[in-house]
Amino acid sequence: MTISLRDTRSQELYARALHYLPGGVNSPVRAMRAIGRDPLFIERGEGAELIDVDGNTYVDYVCSWGPLMLGHANPAVLEAVRTAARAGTTFGAPTAGEVDLAEEVSRRFPGIEMLRMTSSGTESAMSAIRLARAATGREKLLKFAGAYHGHIDGLLAEAGSGLATQAIPSSPGVPAAATASTVIVPWNDPDALVRATEEHEFAALLAEPFPANMGLVRPVEGFLELLRERASITGALLVFDEVISGFRVAAGGVQELTGVIPDLTILGKVIGGGLPAAAFGGSRELMERIAPAGDVYHGGTLSGNPVAVAAGMATLAQLHEQAYLRLHATTMALAEGLREAAGSVPVQVSTATGLLTVFFSEEPVRDYAGARACDLERHGAWCRQLLARGVYPPPSQFEAWFPSLAHTAEQLERTIEAAHAAFAEVA
Ligand SMILES: *Cc1c(COP(=O)(O)O)cnc(C)c1O
Repeated sequence: MTISLRDTRSQELYARALHYLPGGVNSPVRAMRAIGRDPLFIERGEGAELIDVDGNTYVDYVCSWGPLMLGHANPAVLEAVRTAARAGTTFGAPTAGEVDLAEEVSRRFPGIEMLRMTSSGTESAMSAIRLARAATGREKLLKFAGAYHGHIDGLLAEAGSGLATQAIPSSPGVPAAATASTVIVPWNDPDALVRATEEHEFAALLAEPFPANMGLVRPVEGFLELLRERASITGALLVFDEVISGFRVAAGGVQELTGVIPDLTILGKVIGGGLPAAAFGGSRELMERIAPAGDVYHGGTLSGNPVAVAAGMATLAQLHEQAYLRLHATTMALAEGLREAAGSVPVQVSTATGLLTVFFSEEPVRDYAGARACDLERHGAWCRQLLARGVYPPPSQFEAWFPSLAHTAEQLERTIEAAHAAFAEVA
């Protein structure tokens, strides 16, 4: 039995949107092309649920791609936003809130003594790279295949053939010169990492320590430790992009969880509690290179915006030890339910606290090549079936599901039931 969802108003809006917005959206993955359907327009969110403009309700596993650890419209976050906004939405001058937030972040992250706020993960990654280049006097960057660090020219790059390769632009408009100093290495390949760091003098080894932008592909045993060692031995800075993993897999991100401490950390998503905020940080010595303490330029009209800072603080206030235990239990229950629901369909469900990816693969996925070799067609069909059954998954296999503290046992049950039926449809 194939069921479909009502999407008349979404279709009308999409037709209008296509006239005024490229592809009808303001960020590509929202268009749902990877799963072969048109986007759904959202009217509102409540806890872990989304309600679209046609009145369909979904259990939401995108949660705005990571910021919403507490789900939609969390009352304490809304109250903090209202209070902050009533006092004025931006000053372009220091406020108490940004000092509180910086102190809280540095308390949580072993690698952060000092930080600078920005308005997006992209901006933070760009500025962290500038700082790494200034601090080392080198230009080259090592990036892993399948990792995403925002839409920075030098990192909008893909690997050529071979193991550790000179990057080539992955988008028109990116000058070859911009990627000329980027070297791409396969994730979880110790030999390629060692070879690349022997062949090149890097300013930074850049990694999502728990990569989640090729689907969630955790590091193999010892890989993060090897990264730390190679950076230290070769004089490169180790930069962890914890835009997704920060505040999610643990209070202090992957660095707290694993004890592998980077030189610089990039944060985003959760830190703004659903409003635009991000940051980069590291040791006091490195961060004092940033202007006006030092000579490396970074500025931003809305950096440390008081409303975003208030939303971030109200979010972090609820992310204590108990919350992580609960999020872990939710994630594992969901993963187990999805594995069972798959039946005869071969899937690999990878997990970390608050993150999960369903790979349509016979084999465990350990790198980008493995993620690309999955049955994307069947994954797309499965996602369309989930949507029709009231579950909103990330509409691409190269993404993670974001279970939150707002997801209830009843919603998990509904999800697993829908997944069961959806798997049966694509078996
Ligand atoms: C989302 C993301 C970014 C970019 O953040 P934006 O706020 O979208 O610019 C960078 N790195 C990682 C790991 C991300 O997931």
